[in-house]
Amino acid sequence: MNLILLGPPGAGKGTQAKRLEERFGIVQISTGDMLRAEVKSGSAIGQEAKAIMESGALVPDSIITTMLAARVKQPDATKGFILDGFPRTVPQAEALDVVLREKGLHLDHVIELKVDDAALVRRISGRFTCAKCGEGYHDEFKRPRHEGVCDVCGSTEFSRRADDKAETVGARLDAYHRQTAPLLPYYAAQGKLRQVDGMADMSVVTEELNRLLANSA
Ligand code: AMP
Repeated sequence: MNLILLGPPGAGKGTQAKRLEERFGIVQISTGDMLRAEVKSGSAIGQEAKAIMESGALVPDSIITTMLAARVKQPDATKGFILDGFPRTVPQAEALDVVLREKGLHLDHVIELKVDDAALVRRISGRFTCAKCGEGYHDEFKRPRHEGVCDVCGSTEFSRRADDKAETVGARLDAYHRQTAPLLPYYAAQGKLRQVDGMADMSVVTEELNRLLANSA
């Protein structure tokens, strides 16, 4: 099963993708995570992407599509994948169509997580993760059970994304509305678009996704 999770930053794509990964045995492919790894390693791609990401703008299509094409060819993607944060522009979607066609693959569903902008700003600006295992937390909605200690692995180190600052969130939402939202009619025209209410509780969203996907697993 091959899926795209579409939606603005903070809609819950990463959280839900991890849950789908476990439930359906397919791999999460997050271009944001891949880029952050490039930045961390100091690679040429990372050096080019760093300032762009921190400004809230999108990294050029050519970089992203090359990276993504190589990733979906990895052996762990043969069981299926969930694209999280890709495509983000119509040219990226067109490039994906070509890559999938070359590999004889197709997309089963494109799922939009719908969330209001006001809720997104609040969600994004409070989030942080365990620096060791990556478990996600939030200042308001999900604090660790014991202050300063990760519930999952016990680490006491946490990190916040450089682009989750309130000042940058506006630019990221703007990029979503201007450059990514045109993908909704693109996939609707292919008969692939499904919508899920991303304002609901995370567990309710997970149930909705499971229900929607159960028939095509
Ligand atoms: P994310 O983790 O998906 O929110 O992505 C973080 C940042 O990485 C975005 O704000 C962009 O600067 C960059 N990025 C991630 N995926 C893409 C993509 N598909 N196209 C362009 N830029 C991307």
